Amino acid sequence: MYRPMHHGYIEAIAGPMYSGKSEELIRRLKRAQIAKQKVLIFKPAIDDRYCGENIVSHNGSKLKAIRIHHSREMMEYIEKDTQVVGIDEVQFFDDGIIEVCKNLADGGIRVIVAGLDMDFRGEPFGPTPMLLTMAEFVDKLSAICMVCGEPAHRTQRLINGQPAKYTDPVILVGATESYEARCRLHHQVPK
Ligand code: ADP
Repeated sequence: MYRPMHHGYIEAIAGPMYSGKSEELIRRLKRAQIAKQKVLIFKPAIDDRYCGENIVSHNGSKLKAIRIHHSREMMEYIEKDTQVVGIDEVQFFDDGIIEVCKNLADGGIRVIVAGLDMDFRGEPFGPTPMLLTMAEFVDKLSAICMVCGEPAHRTQRLINGQPAKYTDPVILVGATESYEARCRLHHQVPK
């Protein structure tokens, strides 16, 4: 997407799992790289999906990224000539990421963040909602509901194949956990 602007700004890509957030982030960053812009890509160290040093989409496209544990580490990598910063799985970062993104954009950098806007309960997820508010450009993507095929804006958490309860802990030892995209009607969070 060409943005004819002569200053920094924030682009936010949000939606449920499988909505193509990483795919879209990778697409935008690869185009910036082709244009020989100085691009830096970050992901939270907590995101071990497909492991290693890449951001990876569910359809297999990938791009090298720097894994960091805390938002404050990001500034150590920013150079004078950095033009574009991409951040995947931004919902897993601490709230400090909001100030970091603001400072980068104020400093003239194009900042592209991608992340879940809601958790499995359908509630705002980490710093993403605030970043959506601050961003100049917002794309809210949808997946396909695995029950009815309508657009899905939510992430269904399943434990041993059944909808996870509101109060179920994040880590469940010995249980098989999975996620799928669902629409509002078919998204279930038993109390
Ligand atoms: P996100 O980063 O939002 O989780 P990805 O970019 O990693 O999404 O993956 C998007 C890809 O996931 C799609 O291109 C498609 O191949 C795959 N996919 C799997 N399940 C679904 C679904 N229910 N709806 C849409 N895409 C799906």
